[in-house]
Amino acid sequence: MHNITDNIKQVSASLQQSAQQFNRSVDEIMLLAVSKGQKHQALRFAWQAGLKNFGENYLQEALDKIAALHDINPCWHFIGPIQSNKTQDIARHFTWVHSIDRLKIARRLSQQRPEDMPPLNVCLQVNIDREASKSGIDPEHCLELALAINELPRLKLRGLMVIPRQREQLDTQRHPYRQAAELLNNLKKGSAALTSLDTLSMGMSSDMPAAIAEGATIVRVGTAIFGPRTTTKP
Ligand SMILES: *Cc1c(COP(=O)(O)O)cnc(C)c1O
Repeated sequence: MHNITDNIKQVSASLQQSAQQFNRSVDEIMLLAVSKGQKHQALRFAWQAGLKNFGENYLQEALDKIAALHDINPCWHFIGPIQSNKTQDIARHFTWVHSIDRLKIARRLSQQRPEDMPPLNVCLQVNIDREASKSGIDPEHCLELALAINELPRLKLRGLMVIPRQREQLDTQRHPYRQAAELLNNLKKGSAALTSLDTLSMGMSSDMPAAIAEGATIVRVGTAIFGPRTTTKP
C-alpha cells in the first residue's frame, strides 16, 4: 500500500518532466487516478498523497467505493461503457463522464442529473483508431453528436476521450493523440455554439508522455499508481 505514495511521486515527476519537455503547463494537466480493480483503502492512500480525482469503469464497484470514501468525498469520473439502466446512479454520483458515445445515454444523464448539482461534465469517447472491438464514435460523427449534446441543459460538453491501440514508440504513440487534438480543434472551428470544449482525456500508464506532447488535459493512470489490479471485474 505505501508503495502508492512512491508511485504517485514518480508519476507526478514524469508528468512534470513531460510537461516541461513539450512546453505545457502542469496546471492544465489533471492526473486522474484510475482505480478500477483497486480496494477503497488504496484510494484513501492515494487521496492522502494528494490525488483528488478517481476514475472508475464499473458502476457497482464504484458505488461501493463512493460509499466507503464518503468522508473524504473525492471527485469521481466514470470512464467505462454505459448501459441505459446505469445512467441514474452515474448522474447522481459522478462529476465527470468520459465515455459518452450515444445521444440516448447523454439524454438520460441530462434528465437524471439532480437539479441541486452542477451540470455533469462529459466527454465524447472517440474510436480514434477505428477498431471494431472498441467503443466510441467514429471521428466523422463527432460534430453531429457534439451539437446534439451541447443542447442538453444538465450536461456540460468538455471535450474528447480516446483509447488508442497499443503502440511501442513515442513517435507512433503520438499519432492518434495528434488526431484527437485536431478533431477537438475542428469541432471548435465547426461551430461557434461549442463554447465549453477544453478537454482532451488521453494517455495512460504506458503512453502518458505522448499524450502530454499532443495536448492532453486529463491523463488517466491506473497501474503506474496502484500497481496491478487486485480485484477481478464483475
Ligand atoms: C484501465 C483504464 C485506464 C488506465 O490504464 P493503466 O494502463 O492501468 O494506466 C485508463 N483509461 C481507461 C478508459 C481505462 O479503462
